Amino acid sequence: MKKVYLDNNATTCVDEKVLEAMLPYLKENYANPSSMYEPARYSAKAIENSRSQIADFLGVDNPNTIIFTSCGTEGANTAIKGVVSKFGNLENKNHIITTRVEHPCVLSVYENYEKKGYKVSYIGVDENGDLDVEALLNKVDDKTILVSVMHANNETGAIYPVYDIAREVKKINKDTKVFVDGVQAAGKIPIELRNSDIDFYSISGHKFHAPKGIGALYIKEGTLFEPFMLGGHQENSLRAGTYNTPYIVALGEAAKLAKDSLDFELSEVKRLRDKLENGILSQLKNAKLNSKAKKRVPNTTNIGFEYIEGELILLYLNELGIYASSGSACTSGSLDPSHVLRAQKVPFTSLHGSIRFSLSRFTTEDEIDYAIEKVPEVIKKLAKISPFQKELNELGL
Ligand code: PLP
Repeated sequence: MKKVYLDNNATTCVDEKVLEAMLPYLKENYANPSSMYEPARYSAKAIENSRSQIADFLGVDNPNTIIFTSCGTEGANTAIKGVVSKFGNLENKNHIITTRVEHPCVLSVYENYEKKGYKVSYIGVDENGDLDVEALLNKVDDKTILVSVMHANNETGAIYPVYDIAREVKKINKDTKVFVDGVQAAGKIPIELRNSDIDFYSISGHKFHAPKGIGALYIKEGTLFEPFMLGGHQENSLRAGTYNTPYIVALGEAAKLAKDSLDFELSEVKRLRDKLENGILSQLKNAKLNSKAKKRVPNTTNIGFEYIEGELILLYLNELGIYASSGSACTSGSLDPSHVLRAQKVPFTSLHGSIRFSLSRFTTEDEIDYAIEKVPEVIKKLAKISPFQKELNELGL
């Protein structure tokens, strides 16, 4: 059976070149880079090389602004908790601003701070998925310790104007720190942190063809925070723990390859994504585009299929070897519609039938043609067993 992997926002395959680069550090070059002897110095050099590759990838000059983490979740937790522990207090530095559409690894941290008595302002998006930047800036006051906005949304691909937001926030309160979750932007659009007002920017390797279990956090020069991983003196004592040399090498190589592939991503991957999107939308009158923001990453589309159940679509697609993801998460049998699509006020009729398709530079034309053929077939099949026959008939299904 054909296998078409269209869930690259969940995770990506490891690039063969990345695997090749990391393997020697799993085999012969295994020395702990913090030791003094020659093989250790070799490992340490590989780590510093990777740090420079990440700095280049993120558009910064100083590699020492980069620390390695285990994942995007760790990057977000390090930045947020690090700022709140350092600068927060419940009397007069107790305000955090974020968006309604952040990833759970960010939102759940803020929910915890709310329980502790911090005030968190959640900024919404409009029906296209664009962020209400004016509302965000209106919320910044002298109690605001942190503003946290993702660069690109994992479900819809919407890009938010993080550089402008950081600049304007600092004009209102220069002490407010700005954290950007860049996990879904890295490898998809150029990143240029040099000369920006962003204080923290997190990325995760498994979203751009490095293995799972490695990420990085940019911390602007001179930015103070309270490290939460304490132990040895690795990463200038900002993140303790023995360096994961093979994965760090993999991250650097993946970043280099992703940077070299950006033009391809912005032209060819986007062309295939648009082909898929138009191919589906043009065949089905009940298909509604959820990815409508002014700017979006080139690999992602999110389509709502009115009156059809999303989990069923995924199961039927799985039978045909097409792997995508639902806009809704199924928890213990009860359907919980996507918080991102709800924030966007996606109508109830397509909220439960929304599917995210996400491509990578390894997605082929042949795979997209197969999906364009099979997705409408599945929707038409499911329309026949939907309880909304009248509505679907009116839509020609
Ligand atoms: N932030 C965003 C926007 C994500 O999409 C994800 C993962 O899906 C994460 C953070 C968490 O990254 P990780 O899986 O590396 O912890």
